[in-house]
Amino acid sequence: MGYCYFCEKEPVEKYFGYYCADCREIKNIMNVYGRDKVLGIVKSCCIRNDKQIQNKIDIELGDIKTNKKDVDKVYNLRNITK
Ligand SMILES: [Zn+2]
Repeated sequence: MGYCYFCEKEPVEKYFGYYCADCREIKNIMNVYGRDKVLGIVKSCCIRNDKQIQNKIDIELGDIKTNKKDVDKVYNLRNITK
């Protein structure tokens, strides 16, 4: 048995087949929705440009700063109640 022609990681589903089970499912989805539509969805959802990467970094750093403020508030409240 050979390996899948698409992912090149998994063994093929059938002896004379070309794809593994997961890639066969992807191919069936592409047959229904069209190659261009599926490729567009994959590119828009899975590939991030520089601006999107920076936005994610800013959001994550914002969460860290927010969490630090929350920790400081709790710490200050504990000191007040003592
Ligand atoms: Zn595969």
